[in-house]
Amino acid sequence: MVRHGGRGWHGRVLAAAVGVTAVAAVTSVWTAQADPSAGHAARGSVSASPSAAGAAGGGEPAARVPVTIAHASDRGPHGVNITIDDGPDPVWTPQVLRVLADNGVKATFCMVGTQAQAHPDLVKAVVAAGHRLCDHTVSHDTTMDKKSEAYQSQQILDAEGMITRASGGVKPQYYRAPGGAFTPYSRTLAASHGMRPLGWNVDSKDFERPGTAAIVATVNREVAGGPTILFHDAGGDRSQTVAALREVLPWLKQQGYSFGFPVR
Ligand SMILES: [Zn+2]
Repeated sequence: MVRHGGRGWHGRVLAAAVGVTAVAAVTSVWTAQADPSAGHAARGSVSASPSAAGAAGGGEPAARVPVTIAHASDRGPHGVNITIDDGPDPVWTPQVLRVLADNGVKATFCMVGTQAQAHPDLVKAVVAAGHRLCDHTVSHDTTMDKKSEAYQSQQILDAEGMITRASGGVKPQYYRAPGGAFTPYSRTLAASHGMRPLGWNVDSKDFERPGTAAIVATVNREVAGGPTILFHDAGGDRSQTVAALREVLPWLKQQGYSFGFPVR
């Protein structure tokens, strides 16, 4: 996608992935966040605002979720979370949905607001198949962390509205900043709308189209380091992603993993 900004996009993703790995290493998210309370979550992020994390407890609206970035699976230490970003796309999303259905796997789709608005039929198909929705902003700006709070708010809340309208009323349960460009403000805002900030542990690098075998190898090599795996169903030719999922999903099952959703 043009909006990804070429090298800047990849660099941003790399930086974000390193950051996620660092947080995971410090806090052992595999176990520490498997059953997160607000207290666990506050320790699970080096950048969490203590006051905001504390406010996630009693007395807040029921929809509120922790402000810290989730990585763990609701299936516990042997769970993995398949996350699919940047769609929906009329060519690739149906193919991804087919692979997921063929393997009995539920995934989390991080949708761009304008894409959801343009393809409500696909958003509804995602929901009807039992997958979950995630807010990936209106226009996929990977420099959100450098922008004003008003801009961040518009990007997150307008996308929430676009996705919810396209789905027929099903709200996104997560917020994933494009390129991982979260801020304390954006995490707190998303959480107050019931959208848990969502990170990743394994970047399959499918966006760079390194070849199906390389995508498969990356997932195989890195999945032991954390359960949330990043793929894409838009932003260019995703045939390698579709082919890689056809290999990766049965392999993960053979390794004893079960498929879940990110914790909320
Ligand atoms: Zn993205």
